[in-house]
Amino acid sequence: MEEIKHYEPFEVDQHLTANSRYYAGRMGSRFYVALRDQQKILGAKCPKCNKVLWPPRSTCHVCFSELTETVEIGPLGTVETFTVVTYNEPVQPRKAPFVYAVIRLDGADTGMAHFLDEVDLDEVHIGMRVRPVFARDRKANILDIQYFKPL
Ligand SMILES: [Zn+2]
Repeated sequence: MEEIKHYEPFEVDQHLTANSRYYAGRMGSRFYVALRDQQKILGAKCPKCNKVLWPPRSTCHVCFSELTETVEIGPLGTVETFTVVTYNEPVQPRKAPFVYAVIRLDGADTGMAHFLDEVDLDEVHIGMRVRPVFARDRKANILDIQYFKPL
């Protein structure tokens, strides 16, 4: 019988870099290109239940229908909920304090989390009306909307 050798676990301190690209999908690609090239925000409209979903996706989460139609939504929207981040962590994209808010754009039936900025932290509230601030140098990603700010 073969003798089983036991080894103590050890760590190797190394850092790997992996450059990658991914396909955002049919609906995601339309969304990001419209955002980058036209500063338009698109939602996906369900042909069966008529819900407008933001960001666009290929399947309706309500009735599971395939989604192929996009409609322009926003750019104004409403804060549905929010949180004020008051501490710094390495994984956070901004230095605290900052606000994450779920924003439902006019014409959409769903909300999406994004940054809320240019706002007094004590003034943030559910129902606050907001508008997007677009990045000057847009790259077809969600940060083409830099953040939302109050009207
Ligand atoms: Zn549906």
